[in-house]
Amino acid sequence: MTQYDSPAGPKPASTATKAAQAAVLEQLPFSDQADFAQAQRGFIAPVPDGLVKNERGAALWDLQAYEFLSEETAPDTVNPSLWRMARLNMNNGLFMVCERVYQLRGLDLANMTIIEGDSGLIVIDPMTTAEVARAGLDLYYAHRPDKPVICVIYSHSHVDHYGGVMGVTSSEAVAQGKVAVVAPDQFMEELSGENVLAGNAMMRRAQFQFGGLLAKGPRGQVDAGLGKVTARGRVTLIAPTQVIVAATEAHTIDGVEMVFQLAPDSEAPAEMHMFLPQFGVLNMAENTTRHLHNFIPLRGAVVRDPRIWSRHISDAMTLFGRQTEILIGQHHWPTWGREDVRAFLEKQRDLYKYLHDQTVRLMNHGLTAGEIAETLELPPGLDREWTVRGYYGSVSHNAKAVYQRYLSWYDANPANLNPPPRREAGRKTIEYMGGAEALLPRARVDFEAGEYRWVAQVLSHLVFAEPDNLAGRALLADSFEQLGYQAESATWRNAYLYGAQELRHGLARLPARHMLSLDMLSALTSEALFDFMAVRLNGAKAAGLHWKINWHLTDSDERLVVNLQNCTLTHVLGQVAADAVASVRARRDVIVALNVRRTNVDEAVVAGVLEIDGEQGIVEKLFAMLDDFTMMFDVVAPSLGQEKEGAES
Ligand SMILES: [Zn+2]
Repeated sequence: MTQYDSPAGPKPASTATKAAQAAVLEQLPFSDQADFAQAQRGFIAPVPDGLVKNERGAALWDLQAYEFLSEETAPDTVNPSLWRMARLNMNNGLFMVCERVYQLRGLDLANMTIIEGDSGLIVIDPMTTAEVARAGLDLYYAHRPDKPVICVIYSHSHVDHYGGVMGVTSSEAVAQGKVAVVAPDQFMEELSGENVLAGNAMMRRAQFQFGGLLAKGPRGQVDAGLGKVTARGRVTLIAPTQVIVAATEAHTIDGVEMVFQLAPDSEAPAEMHMFLPQFGVLNMAENTTRHLHNFIPLRGAVVRDPRIWSRHISDAMTLFGRQTEILIGQHHWPTWGREDVRAFLEKQRDLYKYLHDQTVRLMNHGLTAGEIAETLELPPGLDREWTVRGYYGSVSHNAKAVYQRYLSWYDANPANLNPPPRREAGRKTIEYMGGAEALLPRARVDFEAGEYRWVAQVLSHLVFAEPDNLAGRALLADSFEQLGYQAESATWRNAYLYGAQELRHGLARLPARHMLSLDMLSALTSEALFDFMAVRLNGAKAAGLHWKINWHLTDSDERLVVNLQNCTLTHVLGQVAADAVASVRARRDVIVALNVRRTNVDEAVVAGVLEIDGEQGIVEKLFAMLDDFTMMFDVVAPSLGQEKEGAES
């Protein structure tokens, strides 16, 4: 027993939770089984043993862990609507969409699409990691002719759509011009904004969103909405060799006509749809999925624009609707038949626009984000449609995202302008409530009555006021758990259940590793690389310092000057400062290695890969002032025995 352990495995569903699940069974049309046939259509072969392992035998992808989902009836610890989706997402392996168009599904959160060109293969979105992408390609080759990959297309700037690229090709093949890499405009810029600068905090928060550290099972992780979970393994990146910049561009790639439609500022900041006129196939990337997507994921992101998102869907209907026989996406299964495709696209178009418009209407009436989230529901008439239910996003969270986009987190009530931080607020709230002894019995009564949302609020105050109040932690965990069991959204379920797990067992001890791979950093633009250094500068350590350093990246022959002043790093590309205190010459991979501490300045100079004219000590000091981030920061409660005053901000 550790200091955390309540005798706590996950607990059974409460009476209130059982009643909530029964109501879902009444509300939704479970007898409609059409999706199960669609998700199976074109099936060729499953993922062998449902497993992908690395060389050391560790499972990077494991569908065997989800075998409990073979049960048709939902257990009372899972929302029946989510259970249905979790079962649909178990369809896995190689599927034929139509002649020359194939998909690998259920090998990662995302799909990999393979189009057979005249002489080679066009791969759209090589999933999250090189290992699963390789396994997908091998599964394809086991059933189809062995043609080389000659083109990789990234549909958008999210890691589950490019991270596996080195599993289907290599940087050498791309550098030699044997393989083209195509991406939408601003792909590299947006990728670094979303996944690099905020990468550490986002990865920690993603643990809650995807539930990757939860056990799989009826009382644990069952799904992630878009797919089962994100695959583990090596995240890689090769920069595009060709960028789509016009609103629509037609290209013929190895005998395959492709019309690209840019769809920026939608589900991702850089995204595009693709139409294949020869096959009547429209690929909507991730702008349509067979559920309600997120305007902002729980992991955090820049808020998306559902108005523009809906517009791009509408434009795709105008451009390609009359010729489209099959709609595919980079998640979930296709829609076949022109009429069904049209009906599906209409619902997706209106879903995003409705949630946007109604949120804006209500906020103009003066409702706050929380009040809108409580008021808004799916459009009447659409609310029983499986393709708009919130398995990934939710109406509640999306309404708050729209509010945030237009009006920020602030509700304009000055009471909320500058509240005390969570620990101080917790202490005073608990004190005013008469202390833990007074509130816990009342919270238990409310818990028995099923008022989990309120109980979670009050007990969150308690655990921040009194981190070692184990009874408070236990009841908070129990409340999270029932909220998780009831959630229709997989990401909500994961967040609640993972929150409960950390309250009961503390933070997972993960092996220390740098959060960003060398492959990924090496592919960044210089702009992004030096921005990444700037956000790691510990401002206080740089107090009073003012100097400039010239940099020459020898492989790309780029020059820039970095200025440290007012505790801030800025840089200007293409300039050299005459008054620099040091001039640095190195290949980009050396700068990356210095950033991820694979080497240090002294070692690199001795090895002859880093040349410094001027003050070497200043360059050493620069790297010494950069913070390294620990991913496992506290979220649901302060860690026991590590209470630090003023650690939050
Ligand atoms: Zn995705």
